[in-house]
Amino acid sequence: MKGFEYFGSRVFSESVMKERLPFPIYKKWKAATRKSDVLDTNTADAIAHAMKEWALEYGCTHYCHWFQPLSGSTAEKHDSFIDKSQGEPIVRFSGKALIKGEPDASSFPNGGLRATFEARGYTYWDCTSPAFIKDGVLCIPTVFVSYTGQVLDEKTPLLRSNDIISASATRIVNAFGDKDVREVKVTLGLEQEYFLVDEKIFNQRRDLFTCGRTLLGSLPAKGQELNDHYFGVIPERVQEFMNDINHHFWELGILSKTEHNEAAPNQFEVAPIFSDMNIAVDQNLIMMDVIRKTARKHGMVALLHEKPFAGVNGSGKHNNWSLITDDGQNLLDPGDKPHENVRFLLFVCAIIKAVDDNAELIRMASSCPGNDFRLGSSEAPPAIVSIFMGEQIEAILSSLETGRPAKYEQSALSSFGLSTLKTIPHDSSDRNRTSPVAFTGNKFEFRMLGSSLNPSFLNTVLNVAIGSVLEEIANRLETLKYRQEIREEAIIICSEIIKQHKRILFSGNGYSREWIEDEAVKRGLSNIHTFVESIECFNSPKSINLFEKFGILSADEIDARANVLYESYTNNILIEAKTLALMIRQDVIPSFVKEINDSHIHLKSKYLEQKSEMLVTAIDQLADFTDNLVGLMDSDKGHSPKEVAYFCLEKITPVMSDIRCLVDALEPYLATRNYPYPSYEEAFNSLD
Ligand code: ADP
Ligand code: MG
Repeated sequence: MKGFEYFGSRVFSESVMKERLPFPIYKKWKAATRKSDVLDTNTADAIAHAMKEWALEYGCTHYCHWFQPLSGSTAEKHDSFIDKSQGEPIVRFSGKALIKGEPDASSFPNGGLRATFEARGYTYWDCTSPAFIKDGVLCIPTVFVSYTGQVLDEKTPLLRSNDIISASATRIVNAFGDKDVREVKVTLGLEQEYFLVDEKIFNQRRDLFTCGRTLLGSLPAKGQELNDHYFGVIPERVQEFMNDINHHFWELGILSKTEHNEAAPNQFEVAPIFSDMNIAVDQNLIMMDVIRKTARKHGMVALLHEKPFAGVNGSGKHNNWSLITDDGQNLLDPGDKPHENVRFLLFVCAIIKAVDDNAELIRMASSCPGNDFRLGSSEAPPAIVSIFMGEQIEAILSSLETGRPAKYEQSALSSFGLSTLKTIPHDSSDRNRTSPVAFTGNKFEFRMLGSSLNPSFLNTVLNVAIGSVLEEIANRLETLKYRQEIREEAIIICSEIIKQHKRILFSGNGYSREWIEDEAVKRGLSNIHTFVESIECFNSPKSINLFEKFGILSADEIDARANVLYESYTNNILIEAKTLALMIRQDVIPSFVKEINDSHIHLKSKYLEQKSEMLVTAIDQLADFTDNLVGLMDSDKGHSPKEVAYFCLEKITPVMSDIRCLVDALEPYLATRNYPYPSYEEAFNSLD
């Protein structure tokens, strides 16, 4: 690959293994990844040795088990290759150290599953995701479980859910006559949005510094109204940063493809080419890490928070999801004649049913405290889960309701005067940016996911939900023998599903009042406004049933996870509330006082007098609000994690909004030098 010779050089990939391992060892590893064999000690020892030799060549001195605890970020504990043998220092990395690690489990969020005195937790190698070198350390992707085998991470459920969907999708493909297909995989493409701000601005704003988002700040004269940032010229400094992250991504074997300015000032996006789900998730987590660290090297800070600045767009992580067979067929590809492609229609219908039946779970798994400022708030997708299918496919699905899938001719595309183009390819679906779930040609794009989130949870939910529907379908199809019978049965299934679930198909404007207040209500679609309220559905009997049925998570593990979610909300809000109280008392009120002192009332200007009065009143109001806020934080907030989270949502966040409203309304009256922080205007102009 000319110009890309270094691509994948930091990955202990399959080709490196093939080259460096004795062939029988390589074959054993390959069989283990396909789950047709398990790794024995000798194999593990041989792989560990080769991995260490390879890592040493890159100057590594340490390795780590790299895992995904419930904290939302990744965790790593470094160990060096140094060991002692008969009193002498040696360099060693054993199969045992590769396969198993033992971090302390009690210090990670566990929702009550682990008490501090029962601290043991284990990490186990996920041999299906390649080891890689990051920041000079050999990183080994692992799962994380407790001493008693309870799941404490995001990866384990994801891997389990992958098996469920793979098994049931394969059965359906086989039933349709493709007997050679042995495996179906989920493919995932994750688009990552983020903000950049100059480091100096970041350091002077304690809200950004502590909370990753601004708690105060009014919009400048120019926000994103002119749409001049979206796809605009990338500032030179940002381009240098992008070149740098791409270099890292490519070294790490990540097929980084697209980069551009996003809609809001200072907002950008990077998207790799899709890959196997497990790898795509690991790579997204690596990408977030690289983005954060590299920005620092360029004198900037990357904000992965969903809403760093109020009043302009927030950041999401579009989750592009599809299914591919081991012989390369995309099961969501409609082909030239979608109305005749019954297998395609069946998979699409299964997804429609799964999304409708589990809309609340999907909403929850896409959410976090930061996403509350985005999801369902005037921009980005609404919190009502609906699916946009595009004109052609939706028409075919409608025809299924009454029986047979009918052909639908899409309006031809005019050549719009470009005689140089012989044919103009036309997509089977348009874009509808206001839909939380959209069919985009040959995949479903789930757009609710917050930019900061580990995508594992959402994809676990999708896989189990869709896998469960596919399993029911496979059971029905497998009772039949002849191909024609199977096709007929599939059409009947599609028609049943469309009748029952067409309420979720919507191609209009998802932001409109008519949809949110009338139409969606009429259709009985749920509209859960906040993250905290969405957690309820997780430990409902329906959800527990679903997760337990497939051995993904037990009722106890679900309860624990729900607690972790409630606690994460509470911790977030309390940190923000404390920060805000400090900002008001230590910075904002003193700045108002300064402004009053600077107001030169002796000049007898009506404006200056009124302004001073306004500020004096505001000082007392702010002091009251802040006392109230601090009082609430110190008060009894309830017992269970859920009660406390609701207290934060219902009692604390409204006071924070009141404070913000008051300060932001007065910001334009302050002399620039008296506002205690760099303004939005400065932040938005800090990259050029
Ligand atoms: P857009 O901004 O229009 O959504 P992008 O090109 O930014 O498009 O991102 C589309 C994402 O979808 C990319 O990550 C791409 O690799 C991914 N994608 C494309 N085909 C598939 C597929 N079959 N399965 C999963 N993801 C896919
Ligand atoms: Mg995009």
